[in-house]
Amino acid sequence: MTAEPAPRIATVRVPAKVNLALRVGAPKLDNGYHPLATVFHAVDLTDEVTVRRARRFSLEVTGRFAEGVPTDHTNLAWRAVELLRDYYRQTCGVRTPLPVAISIEKNIPVAGGMAGGSADAAGALLAANTVWGNELMPGDLSAIAEELGADVPFALLGGNALGVGRGDELSTVLAQGQLHWVFCVSDQGLSTPEVYRTFDRLSGWDQMPTPETLPAWEEVPEPPEDLLQALRSGDAVEVGQHLENDLQAAAVELQPGLRDTLAAGADVGALAGIVSGSGPTIALLAASHDHAIDISVGMAALRPEVEVFVTSGPAPGARVVSTEA
Ligand code: ATP
Repeated sequence: MTAEPAPRIATVRVPAKVNLALRVGAPKLDNGYHPLATVFHAVDLTDEVTVRRARRFSLEVTGRFAEGVPTDHTNLAWRAVELLRDYYRQTCGVRTPLPVAISIEKNIPVAGGMAGGSADAAGALLAANTVWGNELMPGDLSAIAEELGADVPFALLGGNALGVGRGDELSTVLAQGQLHWVFCVSDQGLSTPEVYRTFDRLSGWDQMPTPETLPAWEEVPEPPEDLLQALRSGDAVEVGQHLENDLQAAAVELQPGLRDTLAAGADVGALAGIVSGSGPTIALLAASHDHAIDISVGMAALRPEVEVFVTSGPAPGARVVSTEA
């Protein structure tokens, strides 16, 4: 039996995420990282990353949200391919994996709190591994994903998952049914580090701890048990009652217009509304697909400056959708 030759081109579809709960602890004194307990939910709003063998490395970005996305080595997808190449050299004995051209079709809002850059990194890892002959196994790709950023492992996994540590220690969450969403995208992004700085200031964690405050600093957030139970029950109303985001106040302080979007969501009958991750995208929960359409129409009338997308989850993680020999 002869092994199939690796394809020349591979396209991977990879989802955006919303955090159904995002609990954030005080920054660790040794490395500044905030310990998290978060529930990731992948949604069917996806980027497509195509990797093809080429004479030299290159990257292009097309699609609705292409504007302003870097096309050089600072793009997370490029960094992902470079890191994968290092692993191929070090662990697979492949001296120089052939160069590749990366194309990203960008449908996930940029700097929107939906981990679009992390999604592209996960997509590029899987696509490049495919054209380089699948020398690395899914477990190896997850380890590389962790090095790239805390949200990258979840983009590979998809579905619903509990994330602890920096959000990258994942376990799958049991859940029933689909959740229907309307995502409201601001025309201005938010910088994740700036949201965390604002969160620290609002929480008093921009000061040094004292003997009295030290116990609170050392607390690690607990998993949101009520939300996990609601997901198991598959009851969207109950899920809506347990959505939470510790970064929401900071995102709203930086973009006060988000308060109006959340209020408009309540006015048009959404089950609940929440800032997605570090914002500024707002996720409105609906009872069904038809309800989501109604909400999107209502939002377009009340907040015409905000772009809306109807979608649902959980969506699968990064997956190869086409290859060419
Ligand atoms: P998170 O939810 O993980 O905090 P985000 O969705 O808020 O992320 P991203 O869309 O991932 O933010 O992008 C943040 C910044 O990263 C962008 O402003 C951009 O300069 C840079 N960046 C690097 N690679 C990419 C990429 N492939 N797509 C989008 N942005 C990228």
